Amino acid sequence: MDLVEEAPYRFRIDRHDPMRVPGVVFASRALLPDAAGDQSLEQVANVATLPGIVGASYAMPDVHWGYGFPIGGVAATDLAEDGVVSPGGVGFDISCGVRLLAADLDRAELVGHLDAVMDALSAATPRGVGRGAVWQLADRAELDAVLRGGSRYAVERGHGNARDLDRCEDYGAVDDADPAQVSERAVQRGQQQVGSLGSGNHFLEVQAVEEVYDAQVAAAFGLRPGQVCVMIHCGSRGLGHQICTDHVRAMEQVMPRYGIEVPDRQLACAPVSSPQGRAYLGAMAAAANYARANRQVLAEAARRVFATRTGRSLDLVYDVSHNLAKIEQHRVDGATRRLCVHRKGATRALPPGHSDLPDDLRPVGQPVLIPGSMGTGSYVLTGVPGAPAFASTCHGAGRVQSRRQATKAVRGHDPRREIEARDIAVRGASRRGLAEEMPAAYKDVAAVVEAAEGAGLCRRVARLVPIGVVKG
Ligand code: 5GP
Ligand code: MN
Ligand code: MN
Repeated sequence: MDLVEEAPYRFRIDRHDPMRVPGVVFASRALLPDAAGDQSLEQVANVATLPGIVGASYAMPDVHWGYGFPIGGVAATDLAEDGVVSPGGVGFDISCGVRLLAADLDRAELVGHLDAVMDALSAATPRGVGRGAVWQLADRAELDAVLRGGSRYAVERGHGNARDLDRCEDYGAVDDADPAQVSERAVQRGQQQVGSLGSGNHFLEVQAVEEVYDAQVAAAFGLRPGQVCVMIHCGSRGLGHQICTDHVRAMEQVMPRYGIEVPDRQLACAPVSSPQGRAYLGAMAAAANYARANRQVLAEAARRVFATRTGRSLDLVYDVSHNLAKIEQHRVDGATRRLCVHRKGATRALPPGHSDLPDDLRPVGQPVLIPGSMGTGSYVLTGVPGAPAFASTCHGAGRVQSRRQATKAVRGHDPRREIEARDIAVRGASRRGLAEEMPAAYKDVAAVVEAAEGAGLCRRVARLVPIGVVKG
């Protein structure tokens, strides 16, 4: 794959047939994926062939191989030009995302209580495949209410407070969810998982604010140096996975009817305006609301632990997805256009002044939550004006080792002991699960965030370090 270095932290893949637009990769040279083991740059070029794509097929600095689209990929299609929506551009874990809560507590005050708090968080957080959930839904009708109302419905049912919703992307729920497009199999998988982490890359982590880069913005987010935080990373569990599977299959069948050819079957897609496109977007929105409710009730469980064990509260900083397609308006070549923006392993990053932000965040921009790894650190960023890539940035450090490679790399080591040796408490997770998630399995999050900032995608606000982790 030929890359042209256009600017610092910005590489171009020139358009060649059948690409409709160029590819743009935001990264330092060191962060570029190793072509031998990772085909994600080919995937960037493949995405550039999708009908209706505008601007470029973008990759964030945490880019790595994914299903059809790379993880760390952003692509927008124009609704007025028969633009398509592709489930592979959202991913299997629909609306997987991150929620950050800030405690009214300093790191030093937690020291004596840490083990008890970690044990209680571990007991309060269902995890692993299958195996229980915080919220037992009464019936299918209540699941539909979750699919339509997301965190708003959870709060209505007593899982949280009204202020939480101001600090959620889309105020806690996306519109246009269509539970009728969710298959019976997806419903079965979703009925008993609201309030559960899922598998190994998902986590609930107790962290501390180690460094603040912009005190004014940090204060507006509710963050100060030394403060204890809780970060939750999870998504839509089996329900989202099944929806992705169902709709990829449906789109594969109708692509010839719309005259769409793609270089990779995993890029199955359909026009946004087609029955199949609309059905997917309705089901995807339902899964997005499920994921938000999931994070809402897990956060509420963590709040109860903090209240009981420390007597302190947890305030929501923000909740944002990193696997989603959204219909948004953007200015492209001087005109305002309605676009379907796919962010897969990429985070929306609204700049200061954006009308979708709540009043208290509008002057400073949207909090962007970037987990790094259980052994290193995580970041809080904010959006910047005039950013490329439709107000998007990275979503994490991004993998450098496949799960299999990571498992091999820890042979003869004790991963749990190695994390604990860094003074980080570990709960949950099998040896294998931890092995797949060791810091060495991921890129250096500091370098990823530096590249994202250097490329003009976002700005650093604070760095968080892990104190204890409950792994899925
Ligand atoms: P993904 O959504 O792609 O599975 O994961 C997002 C990011 O979370 C990964 O790229 C990685 O940087 C980060 N991550 C994975 N496990 C952990 C963890 O235990 N703690 C923290 N802080 N970050 C993690
Ligand atoms: Mn995720
Ligand atoms: Mn996920």
